Amino acid sequence: MLVSMKDMLQKAKQGGYAVGQYNINGLEFAQAFLQAAEEERAPIILASSDRLVDYLGGFTTIAAMVKALMEELNITVPVALHLDHGMSVERCKKAIDAGYTSVMIDGSHSPIDENIAMTKEVVAYAKEKGVTVEAEVGTVGGQEDGMVGGIQYADLDECIRIVEEADIDALAAALGSVHGPYQGEPQLGFDEMKEISEKTDVPLVLHGGSGIPLHQLQRAIELGHAKINVNTESIQAWTASVRETLNQNPDVYEPRLILLPAIEAVKDAVKGKMREFNTSGKA
Ligand SMILES: [Zn+2]
Repeated sequence: MLVSMKDMLQKAKQGGYAVGQYNINGLEFAQAFLQAAEEERAPIILASSDRLVDYLGGFTTIAAMVKALMEELNITVPVALHLDHGMSVERCKKAIDAGYTSVMIDGSHSPIDENIAMTKEVVAYAKEKGVTVEAEVGTVGGQEDGMVGGIQYADLDECIRIVEEADIDALAAALGSVHGPYQGEPQLGFDEMKEISEKTDVPLVLHGGSGIPLHQLQRAIELGHAKINVNTESIQAWTASVRETLNQNPDVYEPRLILLPAIEAVKDAVKGKMREFNTSGKA
């Protein structure tokens, strides 16, 4: 059964580890993520980025696919299905109606009053259904919602306001992380992170979790991050595998033969992240 992120994130924060969010890019990815979680005994958050929902067949298709796979694969670890970077209140409501157990409303591109107002609206709808809500303050670098932008650090007062006024379950406070590959060593604002974590006391979410060195990940977890989002590393593993299979076997044409090694590659990448985040063995 799908669960919300609430217990998962509270336990992670208390236990000093983080639960990974892995973004679905097709059926094979969902299979790989669920199998990795079961084999590692790790709680897991499967997510669809709002900008990929139509490509993946819509909210109801995604929710039905994840639920059916959990049953077919006999998944016993806690699994949450989350909407990543929900673009509007309406999109979040649609995801909740389709069976998602968690949503992110991304109002970070709007002024803080508007961001809080739309977040409150989503929280009101989600709470009655036991669905968790993540909000964002500041701007994650790289590609976000199809917009390529510079990094803008989250403002402490805005973080405190959105947590108190909208009563959210998790906060993505952008502090130097980037979607997609990093150019050089990531520059995370650990001083700001410490202050935001202490003053809000809400589980923090690290977007752009691919390619961050282990010592920085561990520091981010120590400073209140209970959820780390991973997409780039799993899609890079998938693509490298497909490219290698096609290069080594120029005559291959059957999708199953091309994608089976890719599923294994994604599984290995995800298991590696679960060990880095210390989620293995926590379910
Ligand atoms: Zn993100």
